[in-house]
Amino acid sequence: MPLTAGPDDAVEEYLDGRLDQRLESYKTFLRIPSISTLPEHAGDCRQAAEFLVGELRAMGVEHVAAEETGGHPIVYGDWLHADGAPTVVVYGHYDVQPVDPLELWHSPPFEPVISNGRMLARGAADDKGQIHMHLRAIEALLATRGRLPVNLMLVFEGEEESSSEHLDPWLEANRDRLSADVAVISDTSFFEGNRPAITLGLRGLMYAQIDVTGSPVDLHSGSYGGSVENPANALCQIVAALKGPDGRVRIPGFYADVVPLSDSDRAAFAALPFDEDGYRTGIGVPELIGEVGYTTLERRGARPTLDVNGIWGGFEGEGSKTIIPAHAHAKVSCRLVTAQEPDRIFELFRDFVAEIAPPAVRTEVRLLGGGRPSLTPADHPATQAAARAIEHAFGQAPVYMREGGSIPVCASFERILGLPVVLAGFTNPDDNAHAPNESMVLDNYERGIRAIARLWDELAAADSGAR
Ligand SMILES: [Zn+2]
Repeated sequence: MPLTAGPDDAVEEYLDGRLDQRLESYKTFLRIPSISTLPEHAGDCRQAAEFLVGELRAMGVEHVAAEETGGHPIVYGDWLHADGAPTVVVYGHYDVQPVDPLELWHSPPFEPVISNGRMLARGAADDKGQIHMHLRAIEALLATRGRLPVNLMLVFEGEEESSSEHLDPWLEANRDRLSADVAVISDTSFFEGNRPAITLGLRGLMYAQIDVTGSPVDLHSGSYGGSVENPANALCQIVAALKGPDGRVRIPGFYADVVPLSDSDRAAFAALPFDEDGYRTGIGVPELIGEVGYTTLERRGARPTLDVNGIWGGFEGEGSKTIIPAHAHAKVSCRLVTAQEPDRIFELFRDFVAEIAPPAVRTEVRLLGGGRPSLTPADHPATQAAARAIEHAFGQAPVYMREGGSIPVCASFERILGLPVVLAGFTNPDDNAHAPNESMVLDNYERGIRAIARLWDELAAADSGAR
């Protein structure tokens, strides 16, 4: 049984006395339009980085710098005086998504306002709000105790919304300095209904394109039809063979590295308060489908997929044109889970397409991109410490969920630094991240600050209890 941290009235009192100041600082951060993908905002990204540098230095974090990457800077800072306690790498990103369509915003995206208990602005939730929560938790601990219960290394990136191009090389170059016990990433949200949650896993991705070509030019379907293979028909044959009516991917070896769901994994999914019919009507589809033998939440979070993302070829205009197209194409992606490697899945995909492609056309397959899946078990001590911290601050034990999407940086911390990753994010699921009218529920923000401060105590307590 791990030790549990005691209450800390001084931290609570410190935070209670600084609400107005805190919200002003949060707004100041949100006013900086740090849209990483647009070159005209490069100066704003740098300004957001400098804002963080100033904040971290003022609260007593050390070795603080906006480090050059070749793109937008990575803000680094550390506090490493908790001898014998665990060391944690904390990740967040200070860049934001573009704001268009601007006309759908109720207030200007970079003029933050508080309305109905929410902070409204681009970045309020994803991810400036969550970085700001970390800052305030560190500040409260250092101000009241003069020290932190664990060693922290803070890594705040400025390119998450535009591919994180320079993060992996930076992590590789700083591997020795970033030697730690666990990474905490705060860039996820709670479960539906704002139910406190910890995300245990994220799916990976393999993205490929199939190109099928026949004659160098479109052919008259009357003169040639019946005597030559049609690339569009051939492509449809290939695509149709990739998946069975049972929802299973038919590529040999596709499931070889999928770690099966345990009974407790399945129990955790079953315990999630999920409104299946609401989910279906919310999407607007007549029926939900998926791999036989699995529930909707399991299909969405814990099982791999194969989907056509785009398919084209031949005549696509109004009216009719009687041709046999010269070529046809499809973009196909697979969401990957547990130990599935994108490169390996691509090889299996390529070999299977080569095997089933009709011989009377030329078929090529190329890899467009990928990312590894990630998973940290619910019984990992750091996950358990986060669960206790969340329960303490939110008054409710978190549910465990797996996200269907991908956060590629998560796999970077696992692969490059060899760290288990705890995805402790605190935003409301209706935060409109990436969409107009992004918002953060201020109750989540306030309790999240307390949960983060508590997390460092819980981690230290669990570690000393383990020894
Ligand atoms: Zn984010």
